Amino acid sequence: MLQQEIKFLSGVGPKKAELLNKELQIYTFQDLLYYFPYKYIDRSKLYTISELNTELPYIQVRGKIVGFQTIGGGNKKRLVASFADETGKMELIWFKGLSYIQKSLELNHEYIVFGKPGNFGGKFSIIHPEIESVIKNENTIQTSLQAHYNTSEKLKNSFLTSRAISKLMNNLMVSLIGKINETLPDYLIKKYKLCSLGEALFNIHFPQSADLLKKATYRLKFEELFYLQLSILQKKSIRIHKSNGLIFSKVGEYLNQFYKNNLPFELTEAQKRVIKEIRKDFGSGKQMNRLLQGDVGSGKTLVALMSMLIALDNGYQSCIMAPTEILANQHYDTIKEFMKELSVKVSLLTGSTKTKVRKEIHKDLIDGDLQILIGTHALIEDAVKFKNLGFVVIDEQHKFGVAQRAKLWKKNHNPPHILVMTATPIPRTLAMTIYGDLDVSVIDELPPGRKPIQTIHLFDSKRLRMFGFLRQQIEEGRQVYIVYPLIKESEKIDYKDLEDGYESISRAFPPPKYAVSIVHGQMKPEEKDAAMKLFVRGQTHIMVATTVIEVGVNVSNASVMVIESAERFGLSQLHQLRGRVGRGADQSYCILMSSFKLSNEARKRIDIMTKTNDGFEIADADLKLRGPGDIEGTQQSGVTFDLKISNLAHDGQLIQYVRNVAEEILDNDPTLERSENSILMKHLKMMSNKKVDFSVIS
Ligand code: ADP
Ligand code: MG
Repeated sequence: MLQQEIKFLSGVGPKKAELLNKELQIYTFQDLLYYFPYKYIDRSKLYTISELNTELPYIQVRGKIVGFQTIGGGNKKRLVASFADETGKMELIWFKGLSYIQKSLELNHEYIVFGKPGNFGGKFSIIHPEIESVIKNENTIQTSLQAHYNTSEKLKNSFLTSRAISKLMNNLMVSLIGKINETLPDYLIKKYKLCSLGEALFNIHFPQSADLLKKATYRLKFEELFYLQLSILQKKSIRIHKSNGLIFSKVGEYLNQFYKNNLPFELTEAQKRVIKEIRKDFGSGKQMNRLLQGDVGSGKTLVALMSMLIALDNGYQSCIMAPTEILANQHYDTIKEFMKELSVKVSLLTGSTKTKVRKEIHKDLIDGDLQILIGTHALIEDAVKFKNLGFVVIDEQHKFGVAQRAKLWKKNHNPPHILVMTATPIPRTLAMTIYGDLDVSVIDELPPGRKPIQTIHLFDSKRLRMFGFLRQQIEEGRQVYIVYPLIKESEKIDYKDLEDGYESISRAFPPPKYAVSIVHGQMKPEEKDAAMKLFVRGQTHIMVATTVIEVGVNVSNASVMVIESAERFGLSQLHQLRGRVGRGADQSYCILMSSFKLSNEARKRIDIMTKTNDGFEIADADLKLRGPGDIEGTQQSGVTFDLKISNLAHDGQLIQYVRNVAEEILDNDPTLERSENSILMKHLKMMSNKKVDFSVIS
């Protein structure tokens, strides 16, 4: 019955059905049933007309219409009803649908009207009130908290208001009473003291009390998040049981030699812990699928490199894929440098690799001579074939699409072990959901000796002072980044900003004393590279750039990051950019420039940036400010679109809780074949027929 088309519901019909399809994606009875209210208004209190004042919010009054009048003409034409109770009179006013409304209302019949009271010429009035008969037909469900539903302008114009949706819901409920099948097993309902699904759906739309509404909300959120976690964990468990993971059983010469002779510093405790976690996965016989989260500068590359050496010790090739050429180049340089005492063959493959070199690389890969390959998207091309790819590292994984990543997975018969790295921390509970299929490792410690970056906010009027500070830093031998926003819709204006900025900076920092380079997305890769190299080698003092330098660039002598129009950046971007400095032993600074006009949200973002350097704290704040739909990684995962009642930003605790519940169930019954769990299996199957496969990162 729930799968019936919405047009068959009493009160709907084909025209309204089409609107509900288009505007609210409601196609079936079930869709409507799961179209939840966004707020409730307490309709238990009734006001008398003598109690009214214009300070009151939405109120309701019970009385009778004692007269109608149509007043005015043109677009001021209106219907005015005189509405009375025993304490006085007020007016109800309509500007639209006058004759329809007058026809549908009866004189001297008792109504309850609802709306915000105003006062015109000394008389209280409500414009376009909601109005309903006191004498309800027996099929009207009574409720004290009135549910309000989101509608659109189009719906309202066709009289599909919140109230009208509520009436449809009423019709649906009446026909469904006693017919809603439970979706959770009995033992869970008892153990976690949940109300039944039928009760929950009834009370979410027609709360019989505030307490019952709370119970209904809890039950529905519990169910939604529980099934989400159960499906993620079940897939993970299937993958683990099914796949033949390559076994890297030993640590050999490559890693030992590197560790003993070539490692220029002590590993941090966090790096050691993560390498241990990876080694454990490598030896387990199961395919590793691990997310490595670590703030900018926490030393993820080294962890990746040491893991690649373990693969090498076991006779396997590895690769790293990075989102930009600059970054791939940098990884290449770093790894070459680390590997210079070892006989390991490392190559770089990007879009700008010359055909001849490219062909050599292809050949060396197949022969197995090439042990570590570093590159960009160029790695996923079909022509790139490995002899025995054992380990894949993906840097800044959120910059890649799901399909792109999947291609790398398939470059070996047995899937290689996977490590995806990100410096954009996401809150744990969110990671649990959108990367639910991955194990998560965290580097929560920076290498010793780093001084926390000092962040300050300056209004544009203080630019000269900022320039003075930059001169001082350059005097001391440091280098400076100045970053301009680049937002697609307004690329032209942005480039103008960037060019103007470059000009004024070149004027304030003239040659020969100062050298300024510029990098932006419209430059050819060679030009970009050349400009970058000048800066990396310390031949220019200032790098003026767009956000192309956002990820990964590593110049440890750079100590100041100036972010222009900081109000236009999101939190995670600001944090990424700030991470470009603070990589050496010197005190580093981040200066956020902004205009005086700041939106509330922009002010909050800037405040958070000046208060903390902790990426996880920032990620949490970001999630709360923007909601999960906007966090990088969530959109491609599709999860947030499916949630009807829970919110990944605010239901973190419950996510953790139901994940534990789901884990316990799967521990005892991994394939969910016990009879008490058959209902779970059934529901999961239904979900997987319908939903985006969000939990698979490949
Ligand atoms: P991430 O990729 O996590 O942002 P990197 O791997 O680029 O960070 O490391 C940042 C810098 O810190 C690099 O110059 C790296 O050589 C250095 N580094 C890494 N691990 C350590 C360590 N344990 N002690 C000191 N420096 C380290
Ligand atoms: Mg990095």
